[in-house]
Amino acid sequence: MTLTIRANFVHTPGLGSIQILLDHLIELDSSDGFIVNLGPYGGQDLMDAVQVPEGSFILPTFCDLHLHAPQFLYQGTGLHLPLMEWLNEYAFKAEEKLDADLDLAELVYRRLARRLIESGTGAVSLFGTINEETNLIAFFDCLVLAKVMKEAGLRAFIGKLSMDTSSRPSYVEPSAQASLDSAASFVERCYALDQAKGHRLIEPILTPRFVPTCSNALLQGLGELAAQGKSFAPLRVQSHLPEPEDQVAWVRSTRHAEDIDVFDNHRLLTPRTIQAHCTFLPPPSLDRMSQTGAAVAHCPLSNAYFSSTEIFRLREALNRGVKVGLGSDIAGGYELGIQGVMRMSVAVSRLREGLLKRESQALKDGAVKNPRIDWKESLYLATKGGAEAMGLYRGSGWFNVGAPFDAQQIRFYDQRTGEGVGALDFLDHDDKSQPKLVEDVIEKWWCLGDVRNRVAVWVQGNPLL
Ligand SMILES: [Zn+2]
Repeated sequence: MTLTIRANFVHTPGLGSIQILLDHLIELDSSDGFIVNLGPYGGQDLMDAVQVPEGSFILPTFCDLHLHAPQFLYQGTGLHLPLMEWLNEYAFKAEEKLDADLDLAELVYRRLARRLIESGTGAVSLFGTINEETNLIAFFDCLVLAKVMKEAGLRAFIGKLSMDTSSRPSYVEPSAQASLDSAASFVERCYALDQAKGHRLIEPILTPRFVPTCSNALLQGLGELAAQGKSFAPLRVQSHLPEPEDQVAWVRSTRHAEDIDVFDNHRLLTPRTIQAHCTFLPPPSLDRMSQTGAAVAHCPLSNAYFSSTEIFRLREALNRGVKVGLGSDIAGGYELGIQGVMRMSVAVSRLREGLLKRESQALKDGAVKNPRIDWKESLYLATKGGAEAMGLYRGSGWFNVGAPFDAQQIRFYDQRTGEGVGALDFLDHDDKSQPKLVEDVIEKWWCLGDVRNRVAVWVQGNPLL
């Protein structure tokens, strides 16, 4: 059985390029939600097709490469502190609270899933929690997260946190070995949760929090576990590469190394690794990211709060072929919607360009032309770039045959009222007839659009909104 959708489709096949496919058909295999046909509508009879009205377009869903699920509990508060203090005061406390109260965990995760769908996020890489005393509780807690995301129909990587060192004595795993046993068991149980052969939506991801909370023994063991793999592929890994200056200094003084060396030495920089932030990585380290195939989750909003002295070298990373996607970094960033993160990524890159121009020496040393990105490039990072950085199924993040249909419908014009939808006023300013779907309309939505414009979301062909 197939399902046909007739609509205007918009996607970004390459960095900076946008394609508007007016009045096209996409045909899905309804048994698995993958695209089997794509082409212009040719006037054929479409009895059972879904016909998306004019005034809308269909876009790939967004990818969020970095989100701390338990921190959703206190999203939008406590951002006055520097990172290491913030972790103690807010993050560890909230995570501990959810580990101790599974009903609360379920409530937080259900609400999070709902907000992700409303925001157009179809794929997300999640940090969860650890447990306090018994592995059973920890497994169960992260399985709550996995189960909730599975029931919501989202594509999600679930990360049970690994940390055997902590500034909070009640929130730490008892030893490197206990942490490793817990991680290995969680991987098994998480795979068992989603039995779908080949088209699974839920996957475990190894999640050493960051170097300061992980001993070398733990990192070594996680590197081995990752390499052992599962289902004929190495396991996925996520963590943080330096964001704040005090973290960089701490790792240098205690490990006598850079964070990137520590991860690389323990085989945790792989083509299936996502590293958040990377604000302190100089160009040679970006080369190393590119060579190892590890991806960056660029989180411009939380960087603005916590990174203080460095801005991620986004253009240099892209020029070097580093895989880059966007991350909300809830709750270090307060904005859950990737649409807001896209806007922030452009704004931050423009500020960086201004700073580099002022410091002409830096521009000379960095030899980077055009450090800023534009809205089309950010849309690529939020969709196709993000999907590639997450290592999703081949062809994900844009519309093509063989890719899963992960999509959102954006309504920009209401034919009934003759007005733009939501904040998209004056689309009809020059002409009383219906506005055509052109690049300007998409740019206007990119700048001003919000949840009022999003009327449908599908993940792997399943309607979620
Ligand atoms: Zn983070």
